[in-house]
Amino acid sequence: MYSISGTCRLGADIHIDIRKYEHYSELVFEEYAFEGSPVLPTVREFHLSLQRWNQLVSNLADIEQTIQELKNGRDVRLEEHLGGNYYLSIKGGFETVTLRKYRIKEGGTDLRPTRTGITLKFEEFERLASLIPAIERLVPELTTIQPCYMQPDHANLLVALYCSECNPNSAL
Ligand SMILES: [Zn+2]
Repeated sequence: MYSISGTCRLGADIHIDIRKYEHYSELVFEEYAFEGSPVLPTVREFHLSLQRWNQLVSNLADIEQTIQELKNGRDVRLEEHLGGNYYLSIKGGFETVTLRKYRIKEGGTDLRPTRTGITLKFEEFERLASLIPAIERLVPELTTIQPCYMQPDHANLLVALYCSECNPNSAL
């Protein structure tokens, strides 16, 4: 069970809920869509842990620069690992920022996109960036969470090498 500590609207049909569980919180993107046949209203959810959110925030300057260069007509792309095979990507031709979980299929070697993801228009992402201080006020523990690679146990090389968050595919 969880409670909602806050809701931040990003666009007409997309918002973020901050879900607070007993021992942790997470950010959940919720997008309303009309899909399928027959067409039915659905809610698409995308969950981001606080640590992965912090990783996104720490890459904000690169992300904003990529968006600006694309708006100026330059052909650039960006891919950032947020942890646990969750990636943020921006590429030319789409005015969007995509957050998506990837995985290596059993027996395979390629990292492939899964259906778990969310796509934000540039203006929705810019709204998200402007909400960072508000989200940090709603989730005070965000300011004290250390990046995974800074956790004390990562001083042990084997722990760091096989960490499912930092190096999710190393055990394969
Ligand atoms: Zn780690």
